[in-house]
Amino acid sequence: MKLILLGAPGAGKGTLAAYLIDKMGVPSVSTGNILREAIKNKTALGLSAKQYMDAGQLVPDEVVIGMLRERIAQDDCKGGFILDGFPRTIPQAEALDTIAEIDCALSLEVPDEVIEARMTGRRVCLKCGATYHIVANPPKADGVCDKCGDGLHTRSDDKPDVVADRLATYHAQTEPLKGYYGAQGKLKSIDGTQGIEKTQGFAAAALGL
Ligand code: ADP
Ligand code: AMP
Repeated sequence: MKLILLGAPGAGKGTLAAYLIDKMGVPSVSTGNILREAIKNKTALGLSAKQYMDAGQLVPDEVVIGMLRERIAQDDCKGGFILDGFPRTIPQAEALDTIAEIDCALSLEVPDEVIEARMTGRRVCLKCGATYHIVANPPKADGVCDKCGDGLHTRSDDKPDVVADRLATYHAQTEPLKGYYGAQGKLKSIDGTQGIEKTQGFAAAALGL
């Protein structure tokens, strides 16, 4: 299956993707993780993307479309994939339609009031991409990734002032994708406010897994 996870920043897309990887037997592709990796490695892509990310804005379409095209052309994506954080604009969705036949866009519905606590409590592993929350999903040892043992970080774009900008960007540029996939008959929506396990159950039921 070729699945898109839609939803506001901090709605739980990466957390749900980590569960669906095993359930569906396909990889997840997070454009945010690819960009953070590029920043960590100080590549030209990373240096140009960082200014947008730190300001809560989107990286230009042509940059992320090229990146996504290369990633899903790799062998591990031949049998399907889960897209986490792409597409984020209508032009990105139109480009994706020329690259792959998407089966479903699953939208995680979480109101803005819930998002801030999700973001301020989020801790990420920059090495393996695992995501934690200090209350809802803490690591076994404080500040250490359960999966790879690397140190955990607070994302620089999870500061409250940047979160407000990211939510505004989401409503203006990404939320219209619900209409785009709705018109294609591919949109499914689930409640994302109910804790991690319940959200996994709602997603599995919606996807018939
Ligand atoms: P996104 O990928 O959509 O930006 P994440 O998966 O990184 O969101 O989740 C944001 C934060 O919220 C993380 O700290 C994560 O552990 C936590 N989280 C994710 N899903 C839920 C949920 N259903 N209930 C409570 N907290 C959650
Ligand atoms: P995420 O990890 O998905 O929350 O993404 C973090 C940041 O990376 C976003 O706020 C954007 O600046 C950038 N980004 C990730 N995916 C995209 C995309 N598909 N289009 C544009 N910018 C993106």
